[in-house]
Amino acid sequence: MVEVPAAEAAEPTAADWAAAVAAVRGGQAGGTVLLVCHVNPDGDALGSMLGVALGLRRLGITQLQATFPGATAGATGGGYAGPPEVPEPFRWLPGLDLVVPADSAYPAPDLFLCFDAASASRLGALADRLDTAGAAVVLDHHASNTRFGGIHLVDPGAAATSVVAEGLLSRLEVPLDAEIAQCLYVALATDTGSFRFDMTTPAVHEMAARLIATGISPGEISRRIFDTRPFGAVRLYGDVLQRAQLEPDAAGGVGLVWTYATLDDLARHGQKAYVLEALIDSVRCAAEADVSCVIKQVGPAEWAVSMRSKGAVDVSRVAVALGGGGHRLAAGFTGRGTVDDVIGAIRAEL
Ligand code: AMP
Ligand code: MN
Ligand code: MN
Repeated sequence: MVEVPAAEAAEPTAADWAAAVAAVRGGQAGGTVLLVCHVNPDGDALGSMLGVALGLRRLGITQLQATFPGATAGATGGGYAGPPEVPEPFRWLPGLDLVVPADSAYPAPDLFLCFDAASASRLGALADRLDTAGAAVVLDHHASNTRFGGIHLVDPGAAATSVVAEGLLSRLEVPLDAEIAQCLYVALATDTGSFRFDMTTPAVHEMAARLIATGISPGEISRRIFDTRPFGAVRLYGDVLQRAQLEPDAAGGVGLVWTYATLDDLARHGQKAYVLEALIDSVRCAAEADVSCVIKQVGPAEWAVSMRSKGAVDVSRVAVALGGGGHRLAAGFTGRGTVDDVIGAIRAEL
């Protein structure tokens, strides 16, 4: 696998699109096709992957699998049979029946497509398919994308990977239907913060219009993915927001607000890690700080760090310096050690 500097990232050329379409057309001729999205998948990762997966199924591709790093066999009972690692708000997405455990994914697929991953490391052990696959197509929108595949549909100007996914489906002449649209809408709504962020361009609303025109229900989708959590999560937020700290002089004077959540916090309230995904949105409200940060424990000395900026600071620069990635206003990385170690490293980079 080849990694070249992110500075070379530019929107896909006509040749890139043609190469991707040709690769999929090759897969239509009876080959195996594997779709993978980034570890700890969010709405954009899952929605883009499943939207394209459904589109490929419509094209008649039958040897078709989707997965993500860490996906295990489905939880039975309660109606949902997909991987337990799919966060509950996304467990109704169409196309989840195509998701297989990561360790039963085609070892050498004829065609490999990956979604919303800025670097090969975000694919975990599944990154080995970059070497074993017949063709590898990278669909992404991170400016920090390291162009680690064979064919790159990477558009740093796209609000979500689903914008790129829709571009591929339209070039494959797959019409949007309500199931594909639900997937792509979840992805678009997730990465634009429900159409609130600056990347919510006219083109984003035009795409949303095309998706909604298939008959999907934006209100119902938003309620499911943004506004539905167990009561225990409400109490958990109380604990974690209570310990938030404001450092007005940090980040060169523009201010930092931050908090952390431990595995013990989750256990005390009987909650799963996914409920903390929206925590950053409560923390970043603090008017006194440009930079906000949530440090979420995932192991004894391992933390998933979310960072946001209101514009004065490029948090992707901080995240990249600490081994992660992301965008100017939203980025993250994996922290090691204690909470103090992690916040200390962030303060130093800021
Ligand atoms: P999050 O805070 O998890 O919503 O992530 C915000 C942005 O940072 C997303 O665009 C992610 O792609 C990126 N990001 C988060 N965690 C990591 C990581 N460990 N490595 C690389 N990029 C990350
Ligand atoms: Mn993502
Ligand atoms: Mn994304």
